[in-house]
Order: sequence, then structure tokens, then C-alpha cells
Amino acid sequence: MCGIIAFAERGSVAPHLIKGLERLEYRGYDSAGLAVMSDSVIRTCKTTKRVAELEAKYNSAPFYGSVGIGHTRWATHGAPTERNAHPHLSEDGHFAVVHNGIIENYEALKAELLNEGHVFKSDTDTETIVHLVQKYYRGNFLKAVLNAAKRLEGTFAAALMCIDEPDTVIAIRNFSPLIIGIGKDKTVASSDISAVAEHTKKAVYLNDGEAAVLRPDSASFYNFNGEPVEKELTVLDVGSGDYGKNGMAHYMLKEIFEQPDAVRRTLGAHIKNGEVAFDFSLFDGNAVRNIKKICFVACGSAYHAGVAAAAVFRALTGIASYAFIASEFRYMEPMTDSSTLVVPISQSGETADTLASLREAKRRGARTVGVVNVVDSLIAKECGDVIYTCAGQETAVATTKGYTTQLAALYMFAIWFGRELGALAAEREAELTKSLTQLPHALEIVLRSDAHAKKHASDLKDASSMFFIGRGLDYAAALEAALKMKEITYIHAESCPAGELKHGTISLVEPGMRVFAFLSQPVTASKTVNNIKEVRARGAYTICCAPQSIAERLTDIDELIVLPDIEPLFFNIIEVVPFQFYAYYTALARGCDIDKPRNLAQSVTVE
Ligand code: GLU
Repeated sequence: MCGIIAFAERGSVAPHLIKGLERLEYRGYDSAGLAVMSDSVIRTCKTTKRVAELEAKYNSAPFYGSVGIGHTRWATHGAPTERNAHPHLSEDGHFAVVHNGIIENYEALKAELLNEGHVFKSDTDTETIVHLVQKYYRGNFLKAVLNAAKRLEGTFAAALMCIDEPDTVIAIRNFSPLIIGIGKDKTVASSDISAVAEHTKKAVYLNDGEAAVLRPDSASFYNFNGEPVEKELTVLDVGSGDYGKNGMAHYMLKEIFEQPDAVRRTLGAHIKNGEVAFDFSLFDGNAVRNIKKICFVACGSAYHAGVAAAAVFRALTGIASYAFIASEFRYMEPMTDSSTLVVPISQSGETADTLASLREAKRRGARTVGVVNVVDSLIAKECGDVIYTCAGQETAVATTKGYTTQLAALYMFAIWFGRELGALAAEREAELTKSLTQLPHALEIVLRSDAHAKKHASDLKDASSMFFIGRGLDYAAALEAALKMKEITYIHAESCPAGELKHGTISLVEPGMRVFAFLSQPVTASKTVNNIKEVRARGAYTICCAPQSIAERLTDIDELIVLPDIEPLFFNIIEVVPFQFYAYYTALARGCDIDKPRNLAQSVTVE
């Protein structure tokens, strides 16, 4: 979470910082701020509003300088106030810092510094960094930063400036993402590859425990002991991204409509001549045969993709497959060893809990194949092998195409795995692969039916609570549909396995309450029908979503959303789309900030 950006260049840096912060804003928007080295003074501009406000504020009283640092915050320590907004300055105004992450030992450090007479101006953990640098400074900026870095525990990517070295930015990294770009007359450090790619395609990835000293015409690298480190130059294989809304009112709506193409790209990368193929370097057919258990590990919507994938893998491979919430996986006894395949799923490839689970799984000898969208991101690089989803840039915080492309990648992986294992007959494999290639068209059909959601948004907007129910794969859809609704409308939306309702949750059902039911699975649909009757008997208003073949058998319901018949194992990918619309139009009717919902950020880099 949070985005940092820093430049050491020759031109005026503030406009570049602001443009970079616009790109990074999806990572957190509790506040935005920048600091520029201007006439041997560090000058700052901050706001608790959005980057657009920062720009206006800066433009009303601009200051010139060619070296600077910027930040968009997702507050972890201290309220989202201007006082807590980054950059933070040392007491003597000599140093400035922006930071992404959490300094876990900040209380002890702060107590030590207070004891030594330091006066703090914010409630953040971040401010300890700049006080420590001031404490250790004896005329050598790098030494002071490295001495401070060695005292820090937790996760951090940080960029710092010092008035005695007005052409220098120092960046340090432990666990949080940080990319260094080396351009002509310009070096840049940022949390996000796209903010770097806009300026240069030549980049260096900092590892944990490393620092970069950036000047307009040079970049040098060190470990925290001050020893020079040789870094490999990478040529970034990314465009600077499409950041426009393409005429749509919101990024989320644009991204909903991009799903057929994004899924088509994801499938197209691995389906060749009617067969799924992966070019894994480690995880081959032999490795497949040694696997006894598969764990999908992820957070939020990616976890819901994992829940669906686990069911599909059980069906196609016969191997015990489970989905785990990453923040739980790491601290339970994960029971993983070299016969376990761990599949971390993350759009950004930098989700802190997922990354930590991946590292724990590797420590225990597990095999790993990641499902990731951002190329060369931390999780992608640390996994044995990776399947990239080809969603493109996702700017709205509530994921849509990120999630559906994860499903597409996982479906392909399941088919491939079943085949390599010898668990899937050739005919069934061909049939399933063909069904996969039909998914983009099915999505196009579903995207034409947003009328239902538009019509109901006005009655849903005043709801205080609603339920989403389903069994098995339909429960995975219910999880994602409920999350979408609560993320952007702030209405309480709860998902429940349909058969579990009567064991407690049904006590919340009141007359008029909306209950959405998913009925895509031929084996469980008739059971879910009973659960629908149970809530209807208590006055609930039921809206059911089913494929044509099941929908025509349904009676005694209030509303029906009919979707095309596709392979039931893959139904989640189209089943969630009407509920992306439901969430979107209800949030619109409530006047919510759809692309940047409160309290959230897209790329969660804290645990
Ligand atoms: N922990 C720091 C703060 O609360 C940084 C949070 C972030 O990564 O945005 O200010």
C-alpha cells in the first residue's frame, strides 16, 4: 500500500512527482505530499485530499528544484491528517523521508529518540526513520541512512533527501516493493513499475537489505553494511499503460467491459492448437506426479478465485486442493512440504500476506507456481514458476478483470495439471479446453445485460443489509459478489453457503431483505432451491442467477438473472459479472467514490 516516487534529475521535478503520484494513487489516497530540494532548503506541499488537490495547491505557490520525493498514503499509524502526511522532515529540516510499509519496532525507537531529546511532529511510525538519520549523521548521508536502516524492523521502502547533498536521493528497501529507473539525465525510484516505465525502460530491482544512491547521471547500489553491490540492469517489458477511462464514467466500468479481451489474452497466451501448454522452468510433468496436496493462497478477491480453483482442481485432478486466506496460512501449521504445491494468487504480485506465505511455503520445501498480473513483481520473481494473467493495468480499487483473468489462468492450470497427471481423459480435456476458448464470447453476452442491475440500483441503494448464497462453486461466486457490493457501496453484504444459513445466519433475514442466490451447478441447484424457499417464507425478496438450463426449471422466486449455459466448472467467470454491475450501479446511486472506495487501497503491501 502507499506509493512512493523520487527523482534526481536536471529539470523541474515537482510536475514529474505529481504525475507519478497520479499513477500511484490507486495504492492509497489518505493523503498526498511531495518535498523538493529548492535553493538548499527542503520545501513540502501536502494535502489530505487527492493528488489533483495537491497539484492545485502546488501550482498556487510553486517552487523550483530538480530533486524530490513524493508519497500517496494508506495510513497505518496515525490518522489521515496533514500532520501525518508524508514526506516527514527531521527536526532540523536537514532530511526528508517518504515511506511505504510499517516500522514494527517504532515504539522502542521512538522512546529511545524521545529520551535523547528528539521532538516528534506526527503520529506515524515513519517519522522515526528521519530522526534516526539525523541522529547518525556525521557529514556522510549514505552512512547515516544505512545505520538507520539497520535499526529498522518491519517492512519498508523509503526515499530520503539531505540538504548537504542537494543532487542526491537515497532509496532503501526491505520487503516493500521498490524499482529504480535509470534514464538520461534522470534517475527515479518508485513502488510501481508503470511510474518508472514512463521515464525509462532501464531498471534495477532492489533486493531486501539494499540501498540505492541516485543522482541525475548515476545510480550506485549498496547493502546495508555499505558494501557496493553489482546490480543487473533489466529492460522493462511494459508500456506506460492505458490510464484513460475510454469515455466511461469510471475506471471500474471500463475495466468491467474490458473483461472479454483480458480473458481472451490470458487464454491466448497458453492455449495453442487447442491444447493448454505452459513453459514452466521447474514445474514439469514429473513434478506434477509428486504432488499430494495443492494450496491456493491469496487475499480478497484473489482468495475467492482460489476457492473456485480449489474446487476445479479437486474435480479435474483428484488431488486434495484447498484455498487459504494468506494472512491465516502463514500463522497456522500450514502442513506443507516438498509434496505440496502452493499457488499464490495476486494481481499486483506484491500483496504482503501472500508474499509472506509464499516465503514460508518455500522455507518448508513446497513447490510454487504463482498466478500474478504484474510482470516481474515480487511474487512473480520469487515463485518457482509463474502464470501471468494478462489483465493489463487495473486502476479501480475494486477488482473486476483482475479477478476474472485469475480464474481463466487457474482453469487452464487445472486442465494442464489433470492431463500431466493422467487424471483427465483426452476427450474430456479437449472438451474443457474448447469450453475455455468460448468464455470471452460468453462474457460479451453477459456484459450486454446490465439492465437488471440498473433497474434495481434505486431500490438497493437504501438497503441496510443483503445476503448472497450458493453451494460449492456457487458459494465462491457468492463470496466475490458480496465483497464487490460492500467494497464500493458500503452496504453490509454477507455471503453464506446456502445450506449453512439455517444454522444461525437466517435469524438476520427480515421481510423485504434482498437475498441473491446462485444456482449454476446441476448437482446442488435443487438443494439451493430449498434454501431460497426458506428465506422467502420469512419475507426475503429473492433474486436468482442461473444458466438457461436451470433457470427454466425455477419457480417461486422473485427475480431471475439468466446467463448462457457454459461448462459448469467454469461458471464463476460469468456468474460474477451481473454482480459487478449491481455493485457499480448501487454505488453510483449512493454517490460513492467508486474507483477509490473509503479505507481501501488496491495493492496491499502491509501485513
Ligand atoms: N506506516 C506509514 C504511515 O502510516 C506508511 C503507510 C503506507 O505505506 O502508506 O504513514
